Amino acid sequence: DPRLQAISEAIRVVPHFPKPGIMFQDITTLLLDHKAFKDTVDIFIDRYRDMSISVVAGVEARGFMFGPSIALAIGAKFVPLRKPKKLPGEVISEDYELEYGTDRLEMHVGAVQSGERAVVVDDLVATGGTLSAAIKLLERAGAEVVECACVIGVPEMIKGYCRLNGKPLYILVEPR
Ligand code: 5GP
Repeated sequence: DPRLQAISEAIRVVPHFPKPGIMFQDITTLLLDHKAFKDTVDIFIDRYRDMSISVVAGVEARGFMFGPSIALAIGAKFVPLRKPKKLPGEVISEDYELEYGTDRLEMHVGAVQSGERAVVVDDLVATGGTLSAAIKLLERAGAEVVECACVIGVPEMIKGYCRLNGKPLYILVEPR
């Protein structure tokens, strides 16, 4: 797809953020580039529009920057998967491992009905730990996770799907 190179080039790499040695993939510069941003969302829309998807679940915070546009265009609801203690209603939660320590994602009870078909959206997949927690939340609510969609994926993930509970992963570009 000829659009992918411009999408990749619109992502800024910030060395040593947030810690020494990390090459942070900064998608805020992609959001500044109208053509690259629109192409990114359009590629996902074209992929998911005819797959009977009724749920687009976005992972806080950068999944919120792509997910709602996709949901609106394909006629699905948008469900935010949030960090702890952000959602005001009753929640279900899933813990997941980080490099140091653990984190948690939460989803409102009742946001998703049993049998709904869902896509999980985030900006980047590295180990897959975050997406695995998202998949578990949706499956506990009875939804079928059709695919996970990320703008950026490390090459090992594209080959591996190791911690993604056997779910397909759709990735546009590799880290720069
Ligand atoms: P994983 O759980 O797959 O190891 O990490 C993915 C999560 O970490 C995503 O929610 C993603 O937003 C965040 N993340 C980790 N590294 C980066 C990075 O370099 N750039 C961006 N934008 N997000 C990152």
